[in-house]
Amino acid sequence: MTFDVQAAKQDFPILKRRFHGKPVVYLDSAATSQRPKAVIDACTRFYEEQNSNVHRAVYELGAEATMAFEDARAKVARFLGASPRETIFTRGATEAVNLVFYAWAKSTLRPGDRVVTTVMEHHSNLVPWLELRSMGVDVAIVDVNDDGTLAMDEMGESINDKTKLVAVTHASNVLGTINPVKQIARMAHDVGALCLVDGAQSAPHMKVNFRDLGCDFYAVSGHKMLAPTGIGCLLGREEVLKDMPPFHFGGDMIREVHLTGAKWNDLPYKFEAGTQNMAGAVGFAAACDYLERLGMDAVREHEKSLTRYALQKLAEVKGLRSFGPTDLSIRGGVVSFVMDQAHPHDVASILDAEAVCVRSGHHCAMPLMERLDVPATTRASFYVYNDERDVDRLVEGLRRVEKIFERRPAASAGTGARLTGTGIPEGKGR
Ligand code: PMP
Repeated sequence: MTFDVQAAKQDFPILKRRFHGKPVVYLDSAATSQRPKAVIDACTRFYEEQNSNVHRAVYELGAEATMAFEDARAKVARFLGASPRETIFTRGATEAVNLVFYAWAKSTLRPGDRVVTTVMEHHSNLVPWLELRSMGVDVAIVDVNDDGTLAMDEMGESINDKTKLVAVTHASNVLGTINPVKQIARMAHDVGALCLVDGAQSAPHMKVNFRDLGCDFYAVSGHKMLAPTGIGCLLGREEVLKDMPPFHFGGDMIREVHLTGAKWNDLPYKFEAGTQNMAGAVGFAAACDYLERLGMDAVREHEKSLTRYALQKLAEVKGLRSFGPTDLSIRGGVVSFVMDQAHPHDVASILDAEAVCVRSGHHCAMPLMERLDVPATTRASFYVYNDERDVDRLVEGLRRVEKIFERRPAASAGTGARLTGTGIPEGKGR
């Protein structure tokens, strides 16, 4: 279960770039991945050979574009274990969650209903649910344990007979934690609730089968899985989608329009109003093809082994505390950390001078930062084009941070609360 990482690196033209005289090391794939030549070429080919609007044209070129677009949907659906009718193209994971918010939650939920979500969510799978409080919906937030795993006991206690939705991330973009979403979906269904899984950080990195996970909605971000920006999808169970009202109104989502009213189109078109990101969809399918060629099990194993290596190496850096579970069977290739000596932004700036791209900040997870009792973290995230040498370059950069801040007073990487081995403050909050 391996693939040739050095060969994979060659597939990504951008990795040939140099900054400050050094070859780039890209460790920010959790924010957005790079694109292989195969994906870039697929989009170019669409524009050069097939571009025209889909679904409506009677001419041959239009039929070809429609076929390319629908073939892309079928490919993405197959890759994720869903049917094409259940695969709605969106701009990304954010729009996929918002689709559920506007087309299901706002029209279905009533005061006193409960939505359960977690403190480890990205804002895109948190802010919409918090908004429901203004409608009188009770929003329960499940905590994380001190080892960075989800507090499953609390999840069990929070899901009650008032619960209508459990919205949870499959993998945390900060802690790397992979949540037991199959079990959570079962817990939701036991009380008659639906389960939405944010797959932005899981679909790119492991084999995902929507049917097998058993959730009702699954949000996917194309740009984090080698596809272009502005494309992603919502997978939704057909029985649920068919009763939902449309999300956007306009062309293509209708079957008939009269001045007295309109009838909606079949799935998935009911939710795809207006001209879609056709080249993006074609690129998304090419990305799935590329990942399939590497093998998703091999991708997962590769990232596990890189994460193991990174955690070992980072543990040797003075004053560095990393977050998230140490059990690699429940952890993806995301490593967030703080350094006693330096603010995360300083760390990222010094790494930039070494041509190492990492992210620093709250990672769109401000409540989780509060829970960790840090204003921000530095985050390195791995993908198919990273190898151990990239981790070494990261660590060499962190040695420079150590050196630069050696003689300076301690900076404020946190409030000074005592942290456990995983970096999470002991007994902080629930
Ligand atoms: N959820 C998670 C866990 C994420 O990491 C992100 C992106 N940072 C999103 C949702 C939003 O995805 P998109 O950019 O596709 O809207």
